[in-house]
Amino acid sequence: MMDIQHYLAPTSLEQALDCLAGGDVTILAGGTDVMPQSQAGKLKFKRTLMNIRRIPELIGVAPQGGDLCIGALTTITELLDNALVQRHLPVLADACNHFASDQIRNAATLGGNICNASPAGDTLIPLLVLDARVELASKSRGKLHWRSLPLAEFFTGPGKTRRAPDELLVGVRIPLPGPGRAAWFHKFGTRPALDISTISIGIAGTLRQGALFDVRVAFGAVAPTVVRAPLTERALEGKRLDPDVIAKVAQTARDEVKPIDDVRATAWYRKELIHNMTKRMLDHVAHA
Ligand SMILES: Cc1cc2nc3c(=O)[nH]c(=O)nc-3n(C[C@H](O)[C@H](O)[C@H](O)COP(=O)(O)OP(=O)(O)OC[C@H]3O[C@@H](n4cnc5c(N)ncnc54)[C@H](O)[C@@H]3O)c2cc1C
Repeated sequence: MMDIQHYLAPTSLEQALDCLAGGDVTILAGGTDVMPQSQAGKLKFKRTLMNIRRIPELIGVAPQGGDLCIGALTTITELLDNALVQRHLPVLADACNHFASDQIRNAATLGGNICNASPAGDTLIPLLVLDARVELASKSRGKLHWRSLPLAEFFTGPGKTRRAPDELLVGVRIPLPGPGRAAWFHKFGTRPALDISTISIGIAGTLRQGALFDVRVAFGAVAPTVVRAPLTERALEGKRLDPDVIAKVAQTARDEVKPIDDVRATAWYRKELIHNMTKRMLDHVAHA
């Protein structure tokens, strides 16, 4: 706290972007990552602390074209309660239902979860399999600039993203799933929601005649960032979900991930979890 010289709470996107253009700014949304990280000495506050909670442009969930746009300030509780999310993106609501406690859910934002870039971030897995894009805004020489990129390209390492220091994450844009499209999420932790994921898995596809098409698979907590799993996706694509196929896909998943040992689990245990949970999820899909 000692290093903060200015505290700002802009009430418009333009004000916030002007502030960011000035440089040396720490962005604060719900603070559920920023505050513990600063207390643990992992985050050093910059000269300006900018609270973004009063910026209306970052609030709301609305359909636009064929997409659902979700503002960066949307909290986990709001995602859980939102009728559009429940109807069109139930896999995202499901992940929110495995996220921390009510107190944290009420403060934690979707934008904070994305920008914190944890390999175990729980909303990131459903967002990856839903083909989400991040929407970033900045301002230079008096002009607003917008940029959109696939979430799959946003993360570069633990806590690291392609967001430039003068950019604000405005929200995410997710294509509304077409008929027959379904997605599933599984989080494994020692306690169901209160724990950080030991591993997490997302699967999406269009179910036709016992097979999944246009498959997406994503894994959490098995690499420096959340990851898509192209080999597992290929093993699953268009194949009838019989026991042999499911066994092969689960093996491919185990071979594809490259986790590390850490305080929550060994690499070996994580690989076994990926194998067993992928198999369990696909057994469930096959009998859906
Ligand atoms: C007890 C506890 C339990 C938790 N459990 C879980 C869990 O189960 N699953 C899980 O995934 N996470 C969990 N977390 C982590 C945390 O709650 C989430 O990552 C949360 O979504 C962060 O959102 P926030 O609004 O609080 O972010 P903040 O702490 O305000 O910010 C996080 C980071 O994002 C940046 N940032 C925030 N918004 C923007 C924006 N719009 N544009 C650019 N940068 C931005 C900040 O500068 C900071 O670097 C837990 C945390 C705690 C303390």
